[in-house]
Amino acid sequence: MPHVEILFRNALIFDGSGKKPIKGNVGVSDDRITFVQPNKKKNQVSSEMEFDLEGLALAPGFIDAHTHDDYAVFDTHKIYPKLTQGVTTIVAGNCGISLPPLDLNGTIPVPPMNLLGDSGIYRFPSMKSYRDALVKNHHAVNMVYLIGHSALRIKVMKDINRVATSDETIMMHNLLAQALDEGASGLSTGLFYPPNKAANENEVIGVASAMRNKRGIYTTHMRDEGDDVLKSIEESVSTASKAGVPLLISHHKCTGQQNWGKTRETLKVLEGNSNAPPLNFDVYPYTAGSTVLHEDQVSEETRIMVTWSQSHPERTGQELSKIAEEWGVSCKEAAVRLKPAGAIYFQMHEEDVRRLLKSDIAIIGSDGIPEDEHPHPRLWGTFPRIIGHYARDLGLLSMTEAIHKMTGLPAQVFGLRWRGKIAPNYFADLVIFDPDLIIDKADYQNPKLPSEGINSVWVNGRETLKAEKIVNADAGYFLKADFAG
Ligand SMILES: [Zn+2]
Repeated sequence: MPHVEILFRNALIFDGSGKKPIKGNVGVSDDRITFVQPNKKKNQVSSEMEFDLEGLALAPGFIDAHTHDDYAVFDTHKIYPKLTQGVTTIVAGNCGISLPPLDLNGTIPVPPMNLLGDSGIYRFPSMKSYRDALVKNHHAVNMVYLIGHSALRIKVMKDINRVATSDETIMMHNLLAQALDEGASGLSTGLFYPPNKAANENEVIGVASAMRNKRGIYTTHMRDEGDDVLKSIEESVSTASKAGVPLLISHHKCTGQQNWGKTRETLKVLEGNSNAPPLNFDVYPYTAGSTVLHEDQVSEETRIMVTWSQSHPERTGQELSKIAEEWGVSCKEAAVRLKPAGAIYFQMHEEDVRRLLKSDIAIIGSDGIPEDEHPHPRLWGTFPRIIGHYARDLGLLSMTEAIHKMTGLPAQVFGLRWRGKIAPNYFADLVIFDPDLIIDKADYQNPKLPSEGINSVWVNGRETLKAEKIVNADAGYFLKADFAG
């Protein structure tokens, strides 16, 4: 009689591949799935632990394709919002912002580098030093890491307000190559933000070409997500194809009322791009974005909510227009006074969000900012919101499709071998949830609420979250993209 350590019986199994779920049993030994068996086959299996999942669904653990958990991952409590959504793998180092290879000697980093936290966190001079520190510390979920172009620029360039010289570009290229050898999975840019803005396409190609020959993925927070979003997509596709690397467009959106509806055009370009290197985008299920507060992003038409403020912490969670009114100043002036600060910008249209969520090349990334006092609810609600609200309640897509965009597809996009699927030999990253109850609870007023309907979460074969409680905090592995296999 075959023997396994853990046996899940009678589960509705979404295997992550995009195929319809089946009712069956799954065996796990050590950190791997050993077998998947439909219920109609009645093979006897012995086990040390058994769970009857009648009425519950079993899926691969969700992969959060876009996070800023670079420093939060050291503290299990800050990863709790991820675990309570069923997330077992996070991708960090996004939007040009990464901790390695920077050592800032305790100084406070320039925005948006300060999204990750305050002074003292930039103390990892290499990918290896970051990885070693994390592995030594232990971490609750699996980590995939990208190196940020802004971090490279700050490390190499005295003046980040100009394009890099060819010598500086070569230095960044070599630093990225070294980081890839030491465990990084790709390069991210944040061309929208000041530390990265002055880089032109040639500079990015020069750096990104370190990933040629299937060594990593290029992700980009594009130069423009509003009026010039199409131009920015063209630049991103051109950069990736000239560098010879796969492309992931970060948190794709069309911002500003005059650009609502433009996803019809952006999707035509993105989905029609079939003969270039692989192309995907990540998206979160909300019509508001969130980043640092900057007066240049303040306009009459956009509702803005303050997520944190160093100079006026008492204003956290309030609307910018209300603060401006009380102070008797313009919204732009109020933003200047609140800085350094973070904000939620209500700048997208629901129809665009839905169109993007449905796309076959979309994967799911929360873009949550764990350090924010009053965070955007995407930090706590993204994954259950898509499954519960958009798939089950609205029928925008099927639960099977939704889960594929959080598991099998992102595993493929990031070259994560033996992840994202329920099949023999795959790593046992698993989430058990009630398909009738799963739903997000966090909203803009109360953003720190765990989702409902997640029964338990397993990372590499170890139960990590049980009935909303963390029971293990050290089961995560450090993962590296492998596109060669
Ligand atoms: Zn971003």
